[in-house]
Amino acid sequence: MTYLGKILAGTALGAAMLALPSQGMAQQKFVTIGTGGVTGVYYAAGGAICRLVNKDRKTHNIRCSVESTGGSTYNVNTIKAGELDFGMSQSDVQYNSLKGEGGFKEAGAYGDLRSVFSIHPEPFTVLARKEANVTKFEDLKGKRFNVGNPGSGTRSSMEELLGALNWKLSDFSLASELKADEHGPALCDNKIDGFFYGVGHPSANIQDPTTTCGAKLVPLTGAAVDKLVAAKPYYAKVAIPGGIYANNPNPTQTYGVLATMVSSSKIPAETVYQVVKATFDNFNEFKSLHPALANLDPKNMIKDGNSAPLHDGAVKYYKEKGWM
Ligand code: GLU
Repeated sequence: MTYLGKILAGTALGAAMLALPSQGMAQQKFVTIGTGGVTGVYYAAGGAICRLVNKDRKTHNIRCSVESTGGSTYNVNTIKAGELDFGMSQSDVQYNSLKGEGGFKEAGAYGDLRSVFSIHPEPFTVLARKEANVTKFEDLKGKRFNVGNPGSGTRSSMEELLGALNWKLSDFSLASELKADEHGPALCDNKIDGFFYGVGHPSANIQDPTTTCGAKLVPLTGAAVDKLVAAKPYYAKVAIPGGIYANNPNPTQTYGVLATMVSSSKIPAETVYQVVKATFDNFNEFKSLHPALANLDPKNMIKDGNSAPLHDGAVKYYKEKGWM
């Protein structure tokens, strides 16, 4: 007992004061969701989930908060280290971590990784300066290109694409490693000619440079992309619809992954259950909290993109709903 505690415990009032808060505190649980840059969609999606969890705090005593992070790979690694309870992860990063493939060869298979649900599609998005006259990815050879920060899912997907194209980082005159929140301003400041980002749409991250300096979306198509999509279960062809960003009226053909929320088998089922319940019990509100979430369908969220086994706490809720 602390010194103050000893003094207070000597009185009846003090004993009551000590007993009450310590009981309350023992029940309160803090959970943190690792997301991405604040201009991306992970941060908004995590914020939406936490808002719904916190709304019902009186019934379950869980206080949820989000952390802005370097992205998917950081989130998975930090969950594995026991320092995050949940994290957003691209479906390709989830797959590679589970199996110990791609960038996770050295780390090895992460068998305790668990899926919670998948969320929005993340088309790989290449944006170039209007003045760079880039109409296809190959035009970026020899130019200044942001390949993404280590720790982002964006970066690991970029490495996979470069491998398929048989390019090296040295094929760019500059391969910068700016974080997602920095690449738009760098593009409009003429520090880079283009960047690559796996992100949901619409996103403030893409809206800013398309509006501020007329940046152009660049298609990602061709033999290397065809080969990747055919070889990898987590890739699919997708188009970024035209007209959602200023100065980009036409659809942009590309390929991409799904955003997913993951956790660890070490996180208690009751915690995961409450987070899943808050999201799906308030699903219309969830979809209204960011336009990239507007078209989600629970049936797809519990099945697509989840290569790791679903967490027991999530399964409990999905069975209660008759979805499984
Ligand atoms: N998919 C991105 C990554 O893992 C993050 C996207 C976002 O923050 O919305 O690097």
